[in-house]
Amino acid sequence: MIDIQTFLLALGIGNVGFAILMAGYTHGAAPSAGLRLWMWARLGIGVSQLIGWARPMLGLPLVAGVEGVSWILAMSLEMAAYCVFFGFPRWGRVLLPITLLSSAIVLAAAHGGANHIQLSALVGAVVALFAMAMAWALLRRRSASLLQRIIGINDALFAAAVVIWVASVWLGKGPLDHSGAQQAAYLAGYMLMIVNGFGFLLLCKQKDDTHMAKLAATDSLTGLYNRHAFLVRADGARVVAQRQRTGLGLLMIDIDHFKQINDRWGHATGDEALVVFARTARGIVRDHETIGRLGGEEFALLLPGADLDEAVQAAERLRLAIREATIVTSGPSYRMTVSIGVVVLDPHEDLGGAMARADHALYAAKRAGRDRVEIGELVRKRA
Ligand code: GH3
Ligand code: MG
Ligand code: MG
Repeated sequence: MIDIQTFLLALGIGNVGFAILMAGYTHGAAPSAGLRLWMWARLGIGVSQLIGWARPMLGLPLVAGVEGVSWILAMSLEMAAYCVFFGFPRWGRVLLPITLLSSAIVLAAAHGGANHIQLSALVGAVVALFAMAMAWALLRRRSASLLQRIIGINDALFAAAVVIWVASVWLGKGPLDHSGAQQAAYLAGYMLMIVNGFGFLLLCKQKDDTHMAKLAATDSLTGLYNRHAFLVRADGARVVAQRQRTGLGLLMIDIDHFKQINDRWGHATGDEALVVFARTARGIVRDHETIGRLGGEEFALLLPGADLDEAVQAAERLRLAIREATIVTSGPSYRMTVSIGVVVLDPHEDLGGAMARADHALYAAKRAGRDRVEIGELVRKRA
């Protein structure tokens, strides 16, 4: 049989230790309101467990009320951390009244002479309510990640375990009763709570990882893929195209006389021109196509499945769309043009070779007067 007092002591120390570790982590890390709230929640839960462990030994009248309120505050902090994590607006307006009201009821009940078992049932009902709200927050979206689903189901199970525990109290048995079902529910509730503790940290890490990966792949000015991300995707598309023997069009694009925009209207207008280019190009690029900024005012577009005719048509569409786009300057509005080199990957060519051919075609377009599309030379077959 489980010794609940020892169990509470171990969990209490564990949760306080968890909170101390998180304090060390959040101290040196980038500020994260959600993680800080979680740290305070873990501390609150640890303290509640330690009070629960000490209560029978202390024998003081209001300790059960204090224990109950600390549970409610800790669960409320957990809920607040989820609200911050999911970006719920004005969550304080709902959470604060519920927390204050339920804490006041528990304190009033303790003051009014409710015994420890009745108070436990009261607090358990509030804790189950918070756990259900957390499960809802995690599971409400169909697009929820696997991790989110696991933690959401965990929270729902925790809520169910607490409800079973509360129901057993209402049915007349004490929460620390050693009957099998009650003790199992009690144990399951605490164990699930531990899983939940680590789960939130993993959720935060997953969110940060996704954000960092996106930042690392994105050009901050235009929002297009940066050079590295584009090249990785281009090489992946090359492998697929060569394996499946399908076409892969590659366009190298360079804005004409871009230096003049900077020189006449300043660097900020030059930046604005790059943003206008990106917005216009994104408007005509299809979902399966990839556009990236290779550097400065040079871009590349990848057209999976395209033959040379289709690639040239896409290049013309882009050239004409850019001619139509206006850039607001401090003087008259300005229209830019682009020169484009087009190739379709040869079945045995590497990406560097195809890019060099497209680049060559691009400079042919520049030499021929700009604002035009040129096709790259075909790959010379070895004799
Ligand atoms: P061409 O028609 O031959 O391509 O002439 P160009 O003036 O466009 O080409 P050049 O390579 O001489 O000039 C490119 C300029 O782009 C030089 C550089 O200062 C500017 N540039 C590069 N990156 C940025 C940027 O992020 N913002 C701004 N505003 N300018 C940039
Ligand atoms: Mg240029
Ligand atoms: Mg250039």
